[in-house]
Amino acid sequence: MSSSPSINTAYTGRFAPTPSGYLHFGSLVAALASYLDARAVGGRWLLRMEDLDPPREMPGAQAAIVESLRNYGFEWDGEMQRQSDRHDAYEQVIERLLREGLAYPCQCSRKQLEDWPGAYPGFCRDANQPLQNAAIRLRVPELEYRFTDRVQGEYGQHLGRDVGDFVIRRRDGLFAYQLAVVLDDAWQGVTDVVRGADLLDSTPRQLYLQELLGLPQPRYLHVPLIIQPDGHKLGKSYRSPPLRPDEAVPLLLRALRTLGQPTVPELKDALPGELLAWAIPRWNAERIPRTLTLAEAQLR
Ligand code: GLU
Repeated sequence: MSSSPSINTAYTGRFAPTPSGYLHFGSLVAALASYLDARAVGGRWLLRMEDLDPPREMPGAQAAIVESLRNYGFEWDGEMQRQSDRHDAYEQVIERLLREGLAYPCQCSRKQLEDWPGAYPGFCRDANQPLQNAAIRLRVPELEYRFTDRVQGEYGQHLGRDVGDFVIRRRDGLFAYQLAVVLDDAWQGVTDVVRGADLLDSTPRQLYLQELLGLPQPRYLHVPLIIQPDGHKLGKSYRSPPLRPDEAVPLLLRALRTLGQPTVPELKDALPGELLAWAIPRWNAERIPRTLTLAEAQLR
């Protein structure tokens, strides 16, 4: 599906939903920001299904997500990719990191780590644990990783102190999001990551992985996370219903306003695709509210 006659290969964006539930208003805001940011410069926009965790996947969610995106007028370039098709690539990198001593098997149980709520204290770092029934952790340096987010500004974390050696393959064999996202963004040539601000504090780990693996660092834009009045993220603790097709236009308009973008009353009679086409040339990322969260109830 190609929507742009002259594609700007200097910009590749993506939307990367996890099929643990349906799309909700918060994911619509992230999808819309990433789509408009790409299309406003004639860039490519990809869709990647982050189906790394079958036990947490909701049956039917993948198809429902794709259908919602279509109903809401989004068009992506090329075929949707699935992380479940990429296990070999992830495994190869895990093996290389183990071989080079940059990662190690960890036998610590959740119970054992209960008393250490902060950074992983590194019990298995030099313990030469067997690989069987072990999680794989990446050694982190005692360094701060910083970047400038296009909306949130300067952000940094000291990996040793704030994060600790983190899991890249779980004990049950499932690959960790942090590893898969870095490998896939590089593999797909993603230059611009636009996503929810709940992932701001994952970014320094991803910067470290990029550096370690010699991969390019994309630009980052983290949009405000839409939260419930009680402070919960939409969709996580509440099972959100799927985005209704007959609400596409009002919800897209609301998402545009949430992102600080202009709208006009006539758009309420447009088709979703027409509304997006209207919004593309008017997109200005500078207007996105510079905040980590926005309460859904306060959005008009
Ligand atoms: N799959 C992640 C999510 O749905 C997003 C990953 C990303 O955009 O980097 O929260």
